[in-house]
Amino acid sequence: MVSNPQSTRLSIGIIGGGIGGVAFAVALSRDPDLDVQLFEAAPQFSEIGAGVSFGPNAVRAIQLLGLEAAYRRIADASPAPYEDVWFEWRRGSDDAYLTASLAPGCGQSSVHRADFLDAIVAHLPEGIARFGKRCVEVHQSMEGATARFDDGSTFTADILIGYDGIKSAVREHVLPQAQYGDVGPFWSGTYAYRGMVPTAHLEAAMEERGVERRLALVPQMYLGPDRHILTFPVKQSELINVVAFVTDRSRPNPQLPAGEEWVKAVPRQEVLEVFDGWGPASQAILESIPEPTRWALHELPELPRYQRDRVLLVGDAAHAMVPHQGAGAGQALEDAHVLARLLTDPACDRHTVQQVLAAFESVRHGRACRVQRTSHEAGDVYEFAGMGIGGDEDKLVANLETRFDWLWNHDPEVDVAAARTELGWAGTVSSAAS
Ligand SMILES: Cc1cc2nc3c(=O)[nH]c(=O)nc-3n(C[C@H](O)[C@H](O)[C@H](O)COP(=O)(O)OP(=O)(O)OC[C@H]3O[C@@H](n4cnc5c(N)ncnc54)[C@H](O)[C@@H]3O)c2cc1C
Repeated sequence: MVSNPQSTRLSIGIIGGGIGGVAFAVALSRDPDLDVQLFEAAPQFSEIGAGVSFGPNAVRAIQLLGLEAAYRRIADASPAPYEDVWFEWRRGSDDAYLTASLAPGCGQSSVHRADFLDAIVAHLPEGIARFGKRCVEVHQSMEGATARFDDGSTFTADILIGYDGIKSAVREHVLPQAQYGDVGPFWSGTYAYRGMVPTAHLEAAMEERGVERRLALVPQMYLGPDRHILTFPVKQSELINVVAFVTDRSRPNPQLPAGEEWVKAVPRQEVLEVFDGWGPASQAILESIPEPTRWALHELPELPRYQRDRVLLVGDAAHAMVPHQGAGAGQALEDAHVLARLLTDPACDRHTVQQVLAAFESVRHGRACRVQRTSHEAGDVYEFAGMGIGGDEDKLVANLETRFDWLWNHDPEVDVAAARTELGWAGTVSSAAS
């Protein structure tokens, strides 16, 4: 199949329909001069039933993508009078309050993943998404880029955008192993136990253990050596999203046992044993998880590049990271906004598009790598292994009160402006203004 009708300015194939790919497709679909097709491996759009939290920068990207109303309808926020609290930080051994990270005007903004994906899919026009299309190979010529799928079919467009997640198939084309070595995902050394707990149940469990009831609903992080636990509300506060982390720091490059699945169901007893000796709030939380799953958290190395001519990696395919700053999906959404703004500009056509992709990489690469790097470091800080911080609570508090400012205070429009300058478009009217 060749999508290259001369009636449109540009044809774009998107590989992968997760949060990033769908938000990007929605933004592009508003431009009638673009021919957009999205290919998803699964038989339908789907997300897991867990929470995802967004920092102020990600909420800004959601607004800029025109998805704010859909988001606000389903989003949870920190309850009054804690509206600005991103997380309260506590000592895991006895629940003692350490400090709070404040995100003024935003606080902890979170959604149920499946609800969010449904909400943005509702904005995707008919005829753009194709399912059961697992990309297995990409190649390109001077004229276009072609994806081959596991059903034997192919698709050719002016450009292909790889939004196909941490196990991306597009990545091998952009960074061939023979040239770049292994740039695939590696285990971070951390397992994350995940679960959802009915809020009323957790409140009762907390009260039974003599813990302040509000700790159920106000987002919390409990910290300790090589372990930490987070909680925040989702589903209009009906449920509490729980993630409990444990990290192996005994070796420099810990390996996942051969053949071990990335995600598996585990007995609750396993989680309780990992956090044996922790304070009453942690015990109440972990005893309340009905069916925990254990995730071996993987991340990508910082990739040397995202673009190869007509093919570009974005979202987790380019910069998958550990979730310790709640920033991965936010980066995928920032990518979606910046790239959509550049591709929908009338100055971007099949002749200029490779330079546009290069400008995108140039303005996004440094930030995405820094978010990856600091996300890994954040896990160390929370687990008393931060460089120069360790278990020193004064230093820990000082770090937690300011470490997210640079990440949250970013405006993706600054990236758009920088790319436009690089492209020599600075004096022209941009798509958003036209
Ligand atoms: C435990 C955990 C907690 C997290 N918490 C947060 C958080 O609170 N906040 C936050 O911002 N981020 C969080 N993240 C990170 C976040 O989930 C990801 O960064 C985000 O989902 C990336 O979006 P994406 O669209 O790039 O990729 P994905 O969501 O992975 O989507 C990729 C899509 O591509 C499809 N696909 C894959 N391969 C192919 C192929 N070959 N052909 C066609 N389709 C394909 C997949 O089926 C999928 O639909 C967390 C991650 C984990 C593991």
